[in-house]
This record gives sequence, structure tokens and C-alpha cells, in this order.
Amino acid sequence: MGKKIFITFVVCAIPIATIIITLFYHSSDAYQSPHFFKTFPPLITALAALTAVYSLFLAVLIAVLNWENRKLKNWTRKTEATNEEMRSQNRELQTRIELLSATREISLILNEDVDFDAILEKVLEVTDHLLESINPPRAIPGQSDTDEITIFFKDTLSDQLNPKAQRKQNQTYFENHFKKIPADATNVKEAVEHNRILFLTEGRELDLTCPLVADREVIGALKIKTVIVGTQEEKSTQIRLLQTTLQEFVKILALAIKTPDLYQRAITDGLTNLFAKRHFLAQLHTYFEISRRHNEPLSLIMMDIDHFKNINDTYGHLTGDIILKETAKLLKDSIRATSSAYRYGGEELAVILPNTPLAGAMTLAERLRKKIDARKFTSHEGEALKITVSFGVAEYQKEMGDMKELLHQADTALYQAKETGRNKVCGA
Ligand code: GH3
Ligand code: MG
Ligand code: MG
Repeated sequence: MGKKIFITFVVCAIPIATIIITLFYHSSDAYQSPHFFKTFPPLITALAALTAVYSLFLAVLIAVLNWENRKLKNWTRKTEATNEEMRSQNRELQTRIELLSATREISLILNEDVDFDAILEKVLEVTDHLLESINPPRAIPGQSDTDEITIFFKDTLSDQLNPKAQRKQNQTYFENHFKKIPADATNVKEAVEHNRILFLTEGRELDLTCPLVADREVIGALKIKTVIVGTQEEKSTQIRLLQTTLQEFVKILALAIKTPDLYQRAITDGLTNLFAKRHFLAQLHTYFEISRRHNEPLSLIMMDIDHFKNINDTYGHLTGDIILKETAKLLKDSIRATSSAYRYGGEELAVILPNTPLAGAMTLAERLRKKIDARKFTSHEGEALKITVSFGVAEYQKEMGDMKELLHQADTALYQAKETGRNKVCGA
């Protein structure tokens, strides 16, 4: 402050002195004096020269000060920008840590749970937690947590997107809930169709829909309804952050949801849709042990398409595949829910019949044999053709050491059916 007054004084002193001296000369007697014309002009000239020098000094001083000021402002602006950048980098880093931890939690869920609803519930919990850490809940009077997260599944047959589970105010709701309170499906179909994240904002509300893609197949969508606050720019930044984080997260989420399906695929034969051999051996072992413990009947049917090699040779492998698929379907449709059908090998199929004695299994096998015998198949080129199947049936006996003996007996019966003319049922 003192410096400013001093500068002002110094800068103003010369012009003010000039004015005072001029006034003095004009008003005093000196004006009448003969010396006046000798002394006044040089004095005024000297003062004017000094004023000019001062003005110049003043101009330079102002320019220097301005330059310094601008430098300072630039420096402040740069520091602020760096600070802002560091803050945003810090947030991004924090978000990545949250994302990593959510991913880890999901992988842990997959390791411990195969029950589908339990997986969905935990997955929703993790998603909620992740959302809260990126977009902390805002204080709204009377409402603690306004976030709503819904998982939609695509029905593979109808292509419809149905709500499967929802998390709202720390509660998880499943399918039945949506019969009473339908889930909001805005943008779900569009997000899945275009396979990209879509968002809608209305005031403070944000509605984000992410397609769930696993193995390059859209399996459903994740819909998030949350609240965002701040200026328009802050909201845009927040939406961008949510979008990029969710983009990464839904990949893991989709895989987690798909896992029960992966398990299903692992135990299923791709061509016939019957259970595969490995599952057959595991299941036969389980049923064998149950029968032994509870002394309950258990039967096994092994079946093999007759002269299948000829069909492949005559009509081609494509037709062979069609026949295998159709025979498998016929088999699946003909057995009870408690029995299970398997593809044991190439054109060899099997049925495990818990709680069924030999006679019952023989009857079922005979019914199947007749059905297949009467069935008209069509080759891939449209030619009509027929096939026959041979059956070997065996029943669990107390004396059997393990399931391999049961399997061996059914195999022996099948061999007998082949040896004695095919298209028949033989029991052990
Ligand atoms: P048999 O009456 O004694 O059972 O005679 P077969 O010709 O059915 O028996 P074989 O074991 O000689 O031949 C089985 C054939 O089944 C040979 C194989 O190429 C065919 N096969 C196995 N798996 C498949 C498959 O997935 N698709 C097709 N098209 N053919 C298959
Ligand atoms: Mg065969
Ligand atoms: Mg065979």
C-alpha cells in the first residue's frame, strides 16, 4: 500500500509542480518583472522535459507491471489446470481400483456359487457397490439410496428381453416381483439391438442401459437408474466416467451370468443336445451309489443305431447328423422327467432310469424301438429313409461292485441284440 502511494506521489509530483509554478508566475509580480521572460521559459522547459521523462518512466513501469501480472496469472491458471488434471487422474485411478475389486469379487462368486439366483443376487450387490463408489448416493430427504439396478435376459427362442433380477434400496427382487411391479424397460431393446450403451437424463435422473455380451452373443442388458448432480459440465464428466467403467464391468458381468450356461454346455453334447459321456459316467456313478444305499431299483438302457456306417456312406454325413439329432429328440421326448438321456459315443445313446426295475426299462426300450422303426426320416436331399436301433438293458444288482459292472451288462445285452439280428431289445 505504502509503495503504491509513494509511486503515485513520485509520478504525480512533477506535473503538479509544473502547474503550481505556472500558476505562481501568472499570479505573482514576477510576471511583471523584466527577469520573468529570462527565467520562466527555461524553467518551464526543464519541468516539461522532466514530465516527459517521468511519463516515459511511468509507461515503462506500467508495461513491466502488466507483464509481470500476466505472467503471474498464467502461472496461476497453469497450476489450477494441473491441480484439476491431478484430481481427475486421481478419480480415474480410484475408479479403476474399484473396478478391479468388483471384478475380483465377481470371480470369487463364480468359484463359490453355481446356484443361478445366488449368482445374480451377488452380482447385483457388487454392481451396486461399484455404482456407489463412482457415483456416491446424494442426500435426498426421505430417500437414502435411489439407485435401481435391473438385469434383463434375452429369451433365446422368442428374442424377448425379460427382467430377471433387480436391486433397489439394498433388496434383491426376482422374476415374480415383476408380475406385480413391471420393470422399466426403456432403451433396453434399443441398447441390445445396437449393442451399445445408451443413456437418458432428465433433471437429476440418469438412466443407463448396457448390453450384456458374452462369447460375442448378446445375452441381455443391465439397466441402471441413478441420480447425478452438479453443473452441466460436471454431469457430462460423471456420465462419461460411468459409461467407461460400466463398459469394462459388463464384460465380466456377462461372463458371470453366462457361467451356469457354460456349465450346461460343458455337460451337453453339441450335436444331439443330450448329456455328454463324461456327465453320463458321473451320473451313473451317483445313481448307482444311491441305489446301493437305499436298495432301490436302477436300470440302464444302451442303444446303438444299426448299420449307421451304411447310412453315412449312402446319404452322406450331413444326413447321418440329421438322423442322430432326430433320434436324440425322439428319445428325449419319450422318457420321464426323472430319467435322463445321454450320448455315450458316436451313434450310441444311453438312458439312466432311477427307481425302475428291468421290466419297466425293457418296456420303454421296446416302445422306443417300435417308434424309431415306424418313423420315416428324410435325408438332407429330401429322400425318405428308415433306420432301426438295437437295445441292451440291464438292472442294478446288489452283487455288483460298481457302476462299471452295470454298464458292462447293458453293453453285453446290446452286443447280444446286434448278434441276434439287430432291431431288437435284449435284457441282461
Ligand atoms: P452296427 O449295426 O454294428 O452298429 O453298425 P454301424 O455301422 O452302426 O457301426 P460302426 O461302429 O461300424 O459305425 C458307426 C458309424 O457311426 C461310424 C461313424 O462314422 C458314424 N458316426 C459316429 N459319430 C457320428 C456323427 O456324429 N455323425 C455322423 N454322421 N456319423 C457318425
Ligand atoms: Mg451302430
Ligand atoms: Mg456303434
